[in-house]
Amino acid sequence: MPLIAANWKMHKTTRETRDFITEFIPLVKDVADVEIVIAPPFTSLAVAAKFLKGTGIKLSGQDVYWEEKGAFTGEISPPMLRDVECTYVLVGHSERRRYFGETDETTNRKIKAARAGGLTVIFCIGETLEERESGRTFEVLKRQIAGGLAGVDPSGIVVAYEPVWAIGTGKTATPEQAQEAHRFIRDEFRNLFGDSSADQVRILYGGSVKPENISELMSKDDIDGGLIGGAGLEADSFSDIVKFKK
Ligand code: PEP
Repeated sequence: MPLIAANWKMHKTTRETRDFITEFIPLVKDVADVEIVIAPPFTSLAVAAKFLKGTGIKLSGQDVYWEEKGAFTGEISPPMLRDVECTYVLVGHSERRRYFGETDETTNRKIKAARAGGLTVIFCIGETLEERESGRTFEVLKRQIAGGLAGVDPSGIVVAYEPVWAIGTGKTATPEQAQEAHRFIRDEFRNLFGDSSADQVRILYGGSVKPENISELMSKDDIDGGLIGGAGLEADSFSDIVKFKK
């Protein structure tokens, strides 16, 4: 089943979260064949959990720390995310890597802790424009996968391929560019973890996905869903994406 997730980043108060959800639920009430996930900011998780109860729409954290508890000011642990009904967590988003010093190693520690804590991980990878233009896209993806997933059982991992140059820029990778990268990622899973992991792993595309381009992206063999930023902030556009034409 395809998975479509909205990453709200640092947007929405608790009131805005409630308003989005009450508008969104009726718009997607007949959607049975897409797994829908929303990743609000930490401060909105509890209210989102309350309003989503019974809908089947799942909740995700946007980040997580690798310790369970302790003197780690500002951090949130896997049990804390579980406590507010999260079943997913994003790890390694390019904004975390770029602005908050996240590395393949810290990503790996977070993924291990999140899995041990029972969360499904949406593991974000992708190359910058400079890396793409210098022909290093596959090398970067390979390094991010090997580093982020070292010692990890791949069964609870969803990968989000998000070319950094396509995030929030309005520039979408062409469906062919996305497919090529997704195929590479699946092949890396095959090399590292074997055929059944490669066949089962869901690989989402992220980067300026909109209602207008979701169907063509989803028509590609190795694209199993989307991670949506800007267009996931409005109930109308996110529901149109979720209800993409097959
Ligand atoms: C994202 O941040 O995960 C993302 C894909 O953003 P946008 O859709 O706005 O490009």
